[in-house]
Amino acid sequence: MGAFIIDGAALAKNIRQKIAEEIKLAKLQPGLAVVLVGEDPASQVYVRNKGAAATEVGMQSWTHRLAQTVTQAEVLALIGKLNQDKAVHGILVQLPLPKTIDAQAVIAAIDPAKDVDGLHPVNVGLLNLGLPSLQPCTPQGCLILLHEVLGNLAGRKALVIGRSGIVGEPVAQLLLQSDCTVTIAHSRTRNLPDECRAADIVVAALGRPEGVKGDWIKPGAVVIDVGINRINDPQRPGKTRLVGDVEFSRASHLASAITPVPGGVGPMTIACLLKNTLQAAKTQMT
Ligand code: NDP
Repeated sequence: MGAFIIDGAALAKNIRQKIAEEIKLAKLQPGLAVVLVGEDPASQVYVRNKGAAATEVGMQSWTHRLAQTVTQAEVLALIGKLNQDKAVHGILVQLPLPKTIDAQAVIAAIDPAKDVDGLHPVNVGLLNLGLPSLQPCTPQGCLILLHEVLGNLAGRKALVIGRSGIVGEPVAQLLLQSDCTVTIAHSRTRNLPDECRAADIVVAALGRPEGVKGDWIKPGAVVIDVGINRINDPQRPGKTRLVGDVEFSRASHLASAITPVPGGVGPMTIACLLKNTLQAAKTQMT
């Protein structure tokens, strides 16, 4: 029997609707400033989608486009200005930044109360201490999806593949806080297939197209595929298509539930960004 396909797009739409209702009812005007440096085509699409989603729920949104050649001082000056701007409740710097810019220094310059990506060291620290914070959007989205499918996660064996500060590490932290028994795999992990076969939950964030093979999935496991990879489409010469980090065609025969790519984690990331912006606005307005 095939897996239940987890409809992240529908769940994200629900979350966006609730946010829009709350903004309207409470007559709030949250503001989100997005900073984009350079011309990376994927980043341009993400930034456009984030801005459009913010406007759609009734937020103010501004996109600051900076040239690839911008200096670190100029980026920091913009962040300083946005920190002071009372209409701006959330600041998001689209990653990756050009190699000439120190991304950690830029993130650390954001007012932690406006850090809607949840990547500032203060928010990372609060998350790791299990204290209220602005949580990173993609990990938050993964957890909402898992709770939606499984309810209580306590006692489940969870494998997170990837240990980046944006996805893998915070996902693992959130799973731990949901009382899972968590393993974090990375590029030096030995025998990844066996680690997968032992897991009730697999969160794949390794950045390798279909790097997690379908037959590694334990029958009945729940699979959250964070990966977004554009590959050449063998069926349509000259065209590309998106695939995840999991071999969906085979994994979906063994898993009990699995997220598709696109339409799984991606829309949840944006919904959680809006959630964080509303949370930040409410905190700053009180
Ligand atoms: P990074 O490249 O920063 O991290 C990848 C991680 O995977 C690293 O920890 C790396 O290990 C590990 N890894 C790489 N190869 C292997 C392997 N063969 N076996 C096991 N582990 C491996 O990526 P991100 O965390 O930023 O992103 C991960 C994926 O998620 C990408 O596909 C990205 O496009 C996608 N993404 C999707 C989002 C969404 O909204 N859906 C948002 C953000 C990212 P090591 O540390 O040892 O190098």
